[in-house]
Amino acid sequence: MSFASLGLSPALLRAVREQGYHAPTSVQAAALPPILAGADVLALAQTGSGKTAAFALPLLQRLVAAAPRPGPRALVLAPTRELAAQTAELLRELASRLLHRPKVALAFGGVSINPQLMALRGGCDVMVATPGRLLDLIDHNGLTLAGVECLVLDEADRLLAAGFAEELQRVLALLPARRQSLLFSATCPPVVQALVEQLLHEPVRISIDEAPPQITQRAVQLDRAQRLPALRQLLRDEGWQRVLVFVASRYTAELVSDKLFAHGFKAGALHGELSQGARRDVLAALKSGEVQVLVATDVAARGLHVEALEAVVNYELPRSAADYTHRIGRTGRAGAQGVALSFICADSPENAESHFRLIEKRQGQRVPRERLPGFEPQAVATEAQATGGIKSTTRKSKKDKLREAAAKAGSHGH
Ligand code: AMP
Repeated sequence: MSFASLGLSPALLRAVREQGYHAPTSVQAAALPPILAGADVLALAQTGSGKTAAFALPLLQRLVAAAPRPGPRALVLAPTRELAAQTAELLRELASRLLHRPKVALAFGGVSINPQLMALRGGCDVMVATPGRLLDLIDHNGLTLAGVECLVLDEADRLLAAGFAEELQRVLALLPARRQSLLFSATCPPVVQALVEQLLHEPVRISIDEAPPQITQRAVQLDRAQRLPALRQLLRDEGWQRVLVFVASRYTAELVSDKLFAHGFKAGALHGELSQGARRDVLAALKSGEVQVLVATDVAARGLHVEALEAVVNYELPRSAADYTHRIGRTGRAGAQGVALSFICADSPENAESHFRLIEKRQGQRVPRERLPGFEPQAVATEAQATGGIKSTTRKSKKDKLREAAAKAGSHGH
């Protein structure tokens, strides 16, 4: 399969070559033709599958083929600033190779709105934004959505999980009824299905395997207190050059990265409370190799694009199976091999076996349990611990409480 056979224009074929893409990925091969033909598309594909180019390429081609009109003519909504920034970057790189370079604007919250308003002064062709900031810009008369011909919801499951449902409905109400809509999502829970039904008209459905086969999943049983020394040993023994370690809170991200640093590892932390500049710096340091181990929370790592990430370690398990899929999708990207290793602790409710079993069930794959020599677990979950007897750094959400109750009910049955 070649890009040329998918109907891309010569200019975009050149752009693709210059990106170093030799052949389309599965999602690109499946999504390009229907998107170019103007159809609505539902694509179940995760980050790492090449999904960004799967919509960016046909979107640009359709823009340049049509007569110029005031914009934005395409709107891409993303759940986080990192993902929005990376999508805008790819769109800009591709657009820069076109004769009538479409203008790509980028907006996200957490930074001053004024430069974003200024940037919109001359209009734009493609708007890439997080939903909240987009609405702010509209309220400030920065743009209108009346000319949008194509809407892309990127990582729709995350958009909804991040609490953007209301903003999303407000944005949708401002869009013209006649338009092309594309929805990309790693998973398709009922909330996403409802959005599909609301938004897409006779969509072409594309489903790319949930967990790419290049990722080897591992699950290590150990005691909570052994996680840090075990992680240090793994880092030494496995020889990983670029590792992402996931934790549940900002506090733990700082703590684990400080402790690793104190033991001579090139470690850094990435979480939502860092400034935009600090996040950029730590990402650049990871890219350059100055940082070898990045300890991150889910929100901060969303949409992160780092080449050749060899391993993802779930120091703490994510809350949902969708988050797990997203996390492990950070490794094994675009044909490279990757390892996703999860710590499972009998003495930690958040990291318990029962929770990992739910994750396995959701992704339809069982991961063999293993123990590391010297770090065999001693602890057995007690009733008090399973019900929250252990000090937790985060307050439990209603969902967590329900899940724990369900897990407890399950274990009583055995
Ligand atoms: P994405 O799923 O959009 O986040 O893309 C994941 C990674 O795959 C990015 O590093 C892209 O640069 C890369 N990529 C996307 N399409 C291709 C392709 N056709 N060939 C090689 N690499 C690609």
